[in-house]
Amino acid sequence: MTKTKTDYEQIAQQLKPRFQAFIDGKYCDTISGETFSCHNPATEEFIGDIAHCDAADVDKAVAVARKRFEQGVWSQRPPEERKEVLLKLADLVRKHTDELAVLESLDTGKTITDCLHEIGTEAPAFFQWYAELADKAFGKIAPTGPDALGLIVKEPVGIAGAIVPWNFPFLMAVWKIAPSLAVGCSVIVKPAEQSPLTALRLAELAQQAGVPDGVLNILPGMGETAGQAIGRHNDIDVVSFTGSTEVGRMFMRYSGDSNLKGIGLELGGKSPFLVLEDATINDDLIEHAAMSAFWNGGQNCSANMRQIIAAPLVEEYTARICERVQKFTLGDPLDPNTEIGSMITPEHKQNVMNYIHKGNQEGAKMLMGGDLERTGSYIKPTVFTDVTNNMTIAQEEIFGPVLGIMPVQSTAEALQVARDTDYGLHATLFTQDINRAIKTARALPCGTVSINGFSEGDIKTPFGGYKLSGSLSRDNGTEAIEQYLQTKTIWINVQ
Ligand code: NAP
Ligand code: MG
Repeated sequence: MTKTKTDYEQIAQQLKPRFQAFIDGKYCDTISGETFSCHNPATEEFIGDIAHCDAADVDKAVAVARKRFEQGVWSQRPPEERKEVLLKLADLVRKHTDELAVLESLDTGKTITDCLHEIGTEAPAFFQWYAELADKAFGKIAPTGPDALGLIVKEPVGIAGAIVPWNFPFLMAVWKIAPSLAVGCSVIVKPAEQSPLTALRLAELAQQAGVPDGVLNILPGMGETAGQAIGRHNDIDVVSFTGSTEVGRMFMRYSGDSNLKGIGLELGGKSPFLVLEDATINDDLIEHAAMSAFWNGGQNCSANMRQIIAAPLVEEYTARICERVQKFTLGDPLDPNTEIGSMITPEHKQNVMNYIHKGNQEGAKMLMGGDLERTGSYIKPTVFTDVTNNMTIAQEEIFGPVLGIMPVQSTAEALQVARDTDYGLHATLFTQDINRAIKTARALPCGTVSINGFSEGDIKTPFGGYKLSGSLSRDNGTEAIEQYLQTKTIWINVQ
């Protein structure tokens, strides 16, 4: 039966969130005894004091993670057994969806509808997909002559650090935990300081599913403390990071200054949504345009905020997108009718508001949106038109609900504007001409191009960025497991 806001409020009242770190299969205080406070951004209510891990806690977690890796309790376990454990974890996440989704919504101000989908549908599917891959990944044999046998073998890299952001806290953690556990790594996760609660709860579900103690550790803390300690640790073999480009650069430095650990980077974006002149403006296109910008309140790395529209279509497009955006329901994240919840923090809201002021100052025309005065950190979905590519709101990642319409005179100009950015995560392209679609997709320097619909692809397709949107690593697909593997050659002389 479909649940109501009252049902979710009741679930919220019964929650008993975990606030301590999870190390070696136990919830524990930090060595320093330090904590930091966690709030619900939609109500501004205090939720709890969270363990503030620092370098000493990271050392403790790494020591046990290494010990378990060397013991082989997970790393040497037959892949079909790892598969069984991860399939069980997928089921446990499904079973606890309501509880986890409410927890995520309280922690972040995300809508309950989005949380239910990400946690109840997407996350278990990830565990399942990588579980199924665990016993189907074969090595290679080199083409040698009869005197040798050359085996090319993939081995788990050892200890993987996962540093995740606050916009999809549970899902981003799962994107990294599922493939790294599937190949046999020990894992240390640092959730974002704004959103630690669901990752902490996941830890005990993983234990219940059969992940051995010390193999999955969750260390909440600040970037400068726990995050930096993970980045600089000499016994962590790889870090998979999702977050801003600025912090991504730091992880490259941490690696260079320490043990040259592998660094996988999934970073920011400023992605275009191109509507070429042969496209038909219909409900479907407008729905994709609106969702590409305002899904998760625009707090989405692949948000398509630069909407580059062929001049003859701009008037109709603008009228229809404004009409659609007007209909978004903002409000209580626990209400299933809410489509846009709170921004993550008052500080983040202020940053986004500053961009809106800047858009106005630099001469873009604001058609709708701006501040929504109510408890919590709300911003109305905001639409600017007459945005040109030299404006700050066309170049910098805002990470909030601010869409810019950019009229262009030709496909060549559309492409030139789309390419003119430091980022390269995603692009959407609407056209009816298949040749134009393929040529334009090839010419766009970004990790995902979605044609005639906004999509990030699915579990099976790799996700990551060109240019300042990432490193060569990819999350999702079979590509994701490459982040957590190293390659060994075993050369056998045959006599
Ligand atoms: P962020 O500030 O870069 O934080 C990401 C993670 O890094 C957090 O866990 C953070 O800890 C940690 N961190 C911060 N400073 C650090 C430091 N000096 N050393 C080590 N770790 C540090 O990003 P965010 O604001 O959470 O997330 C928004 C950004 O993520 C946007 O730029 C967005 O585009 C990007 N993003 C990218 C993808 C993708 O797949 N490409 C997906 C989602 C988000 P604290 O929480 O303590 O700051
Ligand atoms: Mg919070």
